[in-house]
Amino acid sequence: MAGSSVVRTAFRTCPLCEAGCGLEIDLDATEQVVRIRGDKDDVFSHGYICPKGSALKQIHEDPDRLRRPLIKKNGKHVEVSWDEAWEAVRDGFAKVIETHGRSSLAVYLGNPGAHNLGAMMFNKTVVQSLGSFNRFSASTVDQMPKHVAAGFMFGTPVTIPVPDLDRTDYLLLMGSNPYASNGSVCTAPDFPGRLEAIRARGGKVVVVDPRRTRTAQEADEWISIRPGTDGLFLAAIINVLYADGLVDVGDHIRSYVSGIDELGAELGAFTPELVESATGISADVTRRIAHELAGAPTAAVNGRIGVNAVQFGSVNAWLVDAVNTLTGNLDKRGGAMFALPATGGPNTRGTAGVGNGFRTGKGTSRVRKYPEVLGEFPVATLAEEITTPGAGQIRAFITLAGNPVLSTPDSDALDTALSELDFMVSVDIYLNETSRHADVILPPPSQLQRDHYDLLLLQFAVRNVANYSEQVLAFDEAQPDEWEILAKLGGVLQTLDTKIDPSVIDDIAIDALVQNVIKASTSNVYGRNADEILECLSATGRRGPARMLDFMLQTGPYGAGFGAVEDGLSLQKLLDNPHGVDLGELEPRIPEILRTPTGMVELCPAELRIDLVRLFDSIAQVDDAQMLLIGRRHLKSNNSWMHNINVLTKGNLSCTLQVHPDDAMRLGLSDGINARITSRVGTIDVPVEVTESIRRGVVSLPHGWGHNVQGARMSVAAKKAGVNSNVLTDSQAMDPLSGTSVLNGIPVVVQSLA
Ligand code: SF4
Repeated sequence: MAGSSVVRTAFRTCPLCEAGCGLEIDLDATEQVVRIRGDKDDVFSHGYICPKGSALKQIHEDPDRLRRPLIKKNGKHVEVSWDEAWEAVRDGFAKVIETHGRSSLAVYLGNPGAHNLGAMMFNKTVVQSLGSFNRFSASTVDQMPKHVAAGFMFGTPVTIPVPDLDRTDYLLLMGSNPYASNGSVCTAPDFPGRLEAIRARGGKVVVVDPRRTRTAQEADEWISIRPGTDGLFLAAIINVLYADGLVDVGDHIRSYVSGIDELGAELGAFTPELVESATGISADVTRRIAHELAGAPTAAVNGRIGVNAVQFGSVNAWLVDAVNTLTGNLDKRGGAMFALPATGGPNTRGTAGVGNGFRTGKGTSRVRKYPEVLGEFPVATLAEEITTPGAGQIRAFITLAGNPVLSTPDSDALDTALSELDFMVSVDIYLNETSRHADVILPPPSQLQRDHYDLLLLQFAVRNVANYSEQVLAFDEAQPDEWEILAKLGGVLQTLDTKIDPSVIDDIAIDALVQNVIKASTSNVYGRNADEILECLSATGRRGPARMLDFMLQTGPYGAGFGAVEDGLSLQKLLDNPHGVDLGELEPRIPEILRTPTGMVELCPAELRIDLVRLFDSIAQVDDAQMLLIGRRHLKSNNSWMHNINVLTKGNLSCTLQVHPDDAMRLGLSDGINARITSRVGTIDVPVEVTESIRRGVVSLPHGWGHNVQGARMSVAAKKAGVNSNVLTDSQAMDPLSGTSVLNGIPVVVQSLA
């Protein structure tokens, strides 16, 4: 127990996943973390914590976590000073740029950057300094379909509705397992507790998933679906809503919804009877769910990775919100609502209720000609962009907090491609399966050494809150802050000079931000003097992300406006409230949130409905004899590097192939024996786990494993290496509208190795 050795307690938001739980961190006189608990006074999480949150201490103390830069010399990574590392960065990029030009540079942004204030503010400095369009990220193995659907329906890619968990009467969860993930693109600490509260107040929770996940076990009903057919199920629900006269978008938004008749006509053929053999869900069940959604006082449908990282990811994301709209639950308390984050965002800026809308395809990838989405190309095209000769071939590469060798499709091909690069830099806390290819690794501080604000994820919160966390532990000797590394990396890329000072880049960035906002007529600092505001900001002594955040808070929807609004939000106000500031329940936001050119919710946008033909044709392609592979998550595992933390890998966390008992019997499989699983692109051998919790004809593997490679330095993970599920995922299989890889519903052959 902590006992009397505790000399101070720090409060901070956990940055490890989207839930954003408040933590209470006890430290002793030597500044060692003694204990981490949930902060019971946190305005959002009220003391909830999962096993990952308390592991921040072990992550910080992990001997494998990098404290100094590494350079690869004679094939081995060795520690060097920061100065030597920056010189190597400059020399490496200078050589590639001189030989191949800037179009040969590329960057990959990993998922942890979305949970990281410094990265959210300064990753773009690196991206913009490349001088090429070769940008890739974890979004195209994750949530990009949600951005695409939101963009076309509501006008901006972050205008994503979330289920109003705390007030809804009926929740239909599709392809998501918040008992393991704690929610995704839906920020809700203690998501499981919020689900239990729905049932406790007489509501109903239904889970649609090929696996009987823990969430499905705790729900009122589990509906088993064939992987990859969620779009057909949703289309059939909508078909029933129209056919049975259940469509009613509600008076609250009726005059702001267009395309109602068009959507009904488009989905007229998708009857429950037509799709039932494909989905595996009887027509009666589909009809009943449609009637339950329409009849509940309030209801919300929410879909995540199992309906996004599939061949119809964008259509699925669209149809989820089409159901929410047609049942009268969009933008309604207890339905699917929009957050109003304290820092504002694309749907609070500009003219309320109308905008330029959203588009994709402002460029195409070089080799396969995939359209750009949100300024990036599908990560599934990365390997070919490195290995295919010609003008614009990628020769130098940067990873920012990512491990694409384990987390993106056709891993073996990417692993080989990375080994062929002329130069590579990784900003990472580990020498992992990807960064082992890097010529230079620049380690940022640990999570406890960074300040924190969930700039992105509070856009998707089920309650409006704001929490700022100061750095808890001091930097290691000579350790720069993360934003300084990113700003300097951008500066070195631009100037090929290591003398560039990150503070200069920071000053330019804040100046540009202020100049931009004072020109916006809807801003609370419109027409103010930029120098006066910059002086106010600088008087606090803050720099980097904290100074930018202060400006965004002060000019956001609840902001103090540098004295213009009494009792408004500022960074100081958040510092004065270490358990966070509660800004209240979600409130209806239509029409002001809309940024479509028409000022309407586009219920049947041309860019999305174009894919309904392919959806219809998929019915005939279903093959009952084909085994399909899906992924899964574990509560103690999020990103691959968490497998290097002892406290998180103890117990039942394991990399096994889940198989239904009937399939196991048919294939000669049993618990613990190895199976060989083969897809179009790869083969792996993995121990079997026989379980009734999975649908017949479906097998499941977790992702982020496969730590048995030469050159990585993750000693704990290497002892329990597991296998890399992305050896099996196919870089040719994608949702064409978003460029998102198909990670669920992969055709495989399974054989016993007994
Ligand atoms: S649920 Fe997420 S935010 Fe909360 S403690 Fe766990 S990892 Fe941290």
